[in-house]
Amino acid sequence: MSKKLPKRSEDFSLWYNELVKNAGLAENSGVRGCMVIKPYGFAIWELMKDQLDKMFKETGHQNAYFPIFVPKSLFEAEEKNAEGFAKECAVVTHYRLKNDPNDASKLIVDPDAKLEEELIVRPTSEAIIWNTYKGWIQSYRDLPILINQWANVVRWEMRTRLFLRTAEFLWQEGHTAHATKDEAIAEAKLMHNVYAKFAEEWMAMPVVKGYKSDSERFAGADDTFTIEALMQDGKALQAGTSHFLGQNFAKAFDVKYETSEGGKEYVWATSWGVSTRLMGALIMSHSDDEGLVLPPKLAPYQVVIVPFLNKKKQEQNEVLLAKANEIKDELAQFGIRVQIDTDETKRPGFKFAEYELKGYPVRLVVGPRDLENNQVEIARRDTKEKSLQSLDGIGQYVNDLLVEMQENIFSKALNYRNNHITEVNTFDEFKDAIENKGGFVSAHWDGTEATEDEIKNLTKATIRCIPLDAKEEAGTCILTGAPSNKRVLFAKAY
Ligand code: AMP
Repeated sequence: MSKKLPKRSEDFSLWYNELVKNAGLAENSGVRGCMVIKPYGFAIWELMKDQLDKMFKETGHQNAYFPIFVPKSLFEAEEKNAEGFAKECAVVTHYRLKNDPNDASKLIVDPDAKLEEELIVRPTSEAIIWNTYKGWIQSYRDLPILINQWANVVRWEMRTRLFLRTAEFLWQEGHTAHATKDEAIAEAKLMHNVYAKFAEEWMAMPVVKGYKSDSERFAGADDTFTIEALMQDGKALQAGTSHFLGQNFAKAFDVKYETSEGGKEYVWATSWGVSTRLMGALIMSHSDDEGLVLPPKLAPYQVVIVPFLNKKKQEQNEVLLAKANEIKDELAQFGIRVQIDTDETKRPGFKFAEYELKGYPVRLVVGPRDLENNQVEIARRDTKEKSLQSLDGIGQYVNDLLVEMQENIFSKALNYRNNHITEVNTFDEFKDAIENKGGFVSAHWDGTEATEDEIKNLTKATIRCIPLDAKEEAGTCILTGAPSNKRVLFAKAY
């Protein structure tokens, strides 16, 4: 039997790590800060990726691929971007090893193989892409360029956690070029909405849509739109970002286009990305002390059929397996992803615990006695309810159940989130909410970076976003008492 998980209420972070490992999602590797994504974890990521890819293509984007290395001179071109990422860069300085003259079993870096120019392992690809776009864009007819890349990036993070923050991670990065400012802003907002829709409708994870304060904005952006989610321990997680980059990269790489009137103008840009961090978000949003809870749309297998096999009753086994296959075929007609458990050696209790740990949404048990009554036992993972269901119309029944579960998992997360947005008006109330309740705290802020820093120093809470739907409301900053015209959302965050 796999090890029991620690309880979320006792040690959320240990629970998370154990769950990620025990459910076979990922593990730490021999490289500091880098993880191995295991087949079951990768299957979930692939489902996310396939859906996002579809949504990107539906909104007019195409995939392409750019190099993993960025020559330092290109990387430096957009100063703010370079400065923002400098502390997290892995840098290639040499291209060859040679035998150690003092110890033939060892290799050393060959000092004669020093690169003339260092190469940065991309932490993000604006530089290499805008250097390329320069060659692609001459006139307004070449615009817009709507490109996405699926890739790995490296950010030398000091404190890492499986999926949430790793030194190397998988992501997609959209990089678009436009003739006008309005078009670029519309694109950044469009992709912000695509992310929010994906988070809510596929991951069943409610998000707050907003934009970042100056200090949390992407280095090199004029505006960063973000979707912010709340995890079950009351901490917030930035789940996706979409940046309006203004003309910053066009100016840095001298990318101008000829307008329809014959003039020259710098090109406008956006970039947007979500990463394997979404895996962490998914796990922390819904899972429980027994294991993963997966929204059906992102479950590699949505149903497991467990026939009650008995090593000593091969004839009966054949009947049960034939029935299991028949049910599988009927479910497949509804597009449901089904696995049949054909193992004869493990006890049912053991199997059920494993499927709960791995978050299979529906378990369908085919036993000899129920079958005589044309019935099967159905257990749903989200509420753990069990019921007997007739085999007549089983496909439709399970299909409807999966839809209901997707909605139920979302509403549960939404209730939790909504119960964890606290409005406060004084700094004492603020501290109390941050320390004792967790979640988002909605408060007035004077708009200065100094105040934001001071609040962070005093409470560890940061401004997660300025919600797009924040109402105009006269108030005073919780720390300085200076006037403020809208509330922003603070939280402790991952
Ligand atoms: P950024 O380019 O900084 O806007 O980040 C794009 C996306 O990648 C955001 O959704 C981030 O939350 C996510 N992200 C940033 N750093 C990491 C990391 N070290 N590991 C995993 N995801 C990350």
